Amino acid sequence: MKKVMKWLTDGLGFEKQSKYVDDYFFRANMRASIYMSVVVIVIEIWMIIRLTNTIFANNLQGNFMHYFEKYYINYIVLLASGILMLSYSQAYIRGKTNNHILGQCIKWVFTFVCIYFGIKVSINDYSKGEQILTFLTMELFSMCLLTWKPITAFILSGGSYLYFFLRMNEMVAVNTGEVGTTLATQINFLTMWISTMMVCVANYNNTRLQAQKDENLEQINAYLSKISVEDELTGIHNMVYFRSEGEKVLHYVVTDKDNLLFLFFDIENFKSYNEKYGFQAGNELLIKTAHMIDEAFTGSLVSRFSDDHFVVLTSVDGAQNKIGQLSGEIKKLQKEVHLELKCGAYKPTEDKADISQACDRARFACNSIKKHYDRTLRFYDKSLEDKFQLKQYIVNNIDTAIENGYIKVFYQPVVNTADGSICGLEALARWQDPNYGLLPPGAFIDILEEYRQIYKLDMCMVEAVCKDYRESVDSGKPFVPVSLNFSRLDFELCDIVSYLCETVEKYNVPKEFIDVEITESALTDQQDFLPNAIKNLRSFGYKVWLDDFGSGYSSLNVLKDYFFDVLKIDMKFLTGFDKNEKTRPILENIVDLTKQLNMMSLTEGVETKSQFDFLANIGCNRAQGYLFSKPLPLEELRKKINSGELKISKEYLK
Ligand code: C2E
Ligand code: CA
Ligand code: CA
Repeated sequence: MKKVMKWLTDGLGFEKQSKYVDDYFFRANMRASIYMSVVVIVIEIWMIIRLTNTIFANNLQGNFMHYFEKYYINYIVLLASGILMLSYSQAYIRGKTNNHILGQCIKWVFTFVCIYFGIKVSINDYSKGEQILTFLTMELFSMCLLTWKPITAFILSGGSYLYFFLRMNEMVAVNTGEVGTTLATQINFLTMWISTMMVCVANYNNTRLQAQKDENLEQINAYLSKISVEDELTGIHNMVYFRSEGEKVLHYVVTDKDNLLFLFFDIENFKSYNEKYGFQAGNELLIKTAHMIDEAFTGSLVSRFSDDHFVVLTSVDGAQNKIGQLSGEIKKLQKEVHLELKCGAYKPTEDKADISQACDRARFACNSIKKHYDRTLRFYDKSLEDKFQLKQYIVNNIDTAIENGYIKVFYQPVVNTADGSICGLEALARWQDPNYGLLPPGAFIDILEEYRQIYKLDMCMVEAVCKDYRESVDSGKPFVPVSLNFSRLDFELCDIVSYLCETVEKYNVPKEFIDVEITESALTDQQDFLPNAIKNLRSFGYKVWLDDFGSGYSSLNVLKDYFFDVLKIDMKFLTGFDKNEKTRPILENIVDLTKQLNMMSLTEGVETKSQFDFLANIGCNRAQGYLFSKPLPLEELRKKINSGELKISKEYLK
């Protein structure tokens, strides 16, 4: 029933149309009106000229009033309505007017006039036995060229056809001499009306479908252009918009460039907030923050780059105050999770005005105060510039460094607590750079991880260690097992396990001589591939160590879920060794735990004799630290061994 109703209402044109469709109809009608009115104007002028000619040719000027009432008035009214229609539709198409009500009124007047004169002329013609072509032409013109709703067309054309038919029916037909129309005329007339109606309905439906199609396209277009510059979640501008507009400001705007300031905002602990309260609450926080920043920096270029990262291009004046206020407002939004707004600021200098670099620098300044409690703002300065340059250098030069052999392996001994002899070495990377000198891993590991390049370094370390083994053994020197540090990303970015197997085979290194250290934090990310990789490594015969145990993650769960051969106790346990009474029982308990879990224990960061004695006493199997040696190149380590300062475990001496 509902369907039938809908079909009927839609079919008759009762359905509510959108403004777009209404406008489309109006425009289509105005365009058709131009053709129609031009034709009407031309015909009427021609009719006037023709009649005037006839009057003068036949010297009928005396009867002018008679002709005026009978013909001229018709022509003039039609001509006037044509001119009116043409003027309005022209003005509308040219965008000079948009008054739809006036337009509709003129269209109705024009239509009425056309049909009225169509009927009048044709009745006159019919009475003389001529065709009723004027009526039909006017019907065709006004009903089919213009677009009417089916119901309006039905009433308008039905009414005019009926009126015309009734008038014809009162008259004497010239061909029969009787009052009324013949059956053939009636059938022809009805067929003509049905045809007119069909054209009207078809015209209406075509126009409506076209309008709806256009409307959909227009909406899609509008949506696409909106999302290309707008951040979907917060409604403020996105990165694409920021970059293109920022570029213009930097390069084309002749404003006071010294006064420009790039700000990079980040909400500290947003990730924890998201995890604790869910995505919905996280999104709401982002929306609020976006609007707060947008309001604080009204008139500036404000955007959201990604996650909780917002970037603003503003002027230096007053910026610091605004940032202070924003920071206070963000704090008010926090619940149990501590929220802090961090902001990095970069003032572009004339020669380094590049939008990407400016954003990167502001972000770099922002990252530099992460985890610095209560520090909200950091300006990008010379010291950050140096660090930034180094970071760029590392990312851009890791491949060259590997190719040119700048990556060196330093070895740090691991000793057996029973006799203090070396039973292993940890391979630690160093970057011997021609420009920067010897770079410690702290200067490049995090950067390589951030840029997902770390696997290159770790593969290089695998090869270098295997090569060292081969060269030592080939030259008859003793060697001990080496542990390599693998990043969690190695398992994701390359097949590090296969690479290790191939390299070990290439240099013919016994598998007992290679161990793999994986840090505890790598295992808390809940990634599927890591447990499998650990299983594989162990099944191939490598020992897997858990590095940095106790450095602040869910350590015990990690022990429950995975099996490790060696537990490497983080050096932070030894930091308060002499002062903190709790250190000893904690270490003792961890060592006990390793025994129960069938693991070896190793404590790193051993710096004093008393620490070592204590560890030996509680049964910790191995120790590593500056007490024995700092990480050193293999040759220097050998010198220490040769001088008797360090000794190798007997099992590794042939
Ligand atoms: P880690 O694996 O925990 O390495 C131990 C770090 O502690 C080394 O720093 C070592 O020099 C230092 N250390 C050793 N004994 C003592 C001590 O008694 N006192 C103190 N204060 N420090 C000691 P290093 O060589 O700077 O390495 C830092 C970190 O860089 C390493 O921590 C490791 O996570 C990472 N790393 C080093 N080489 C590589 C590598 O080849 N690949 C990967 N993925 N990471 C590496
Ligand atoms: Ca390690
Ligand atoms: Ca460690």
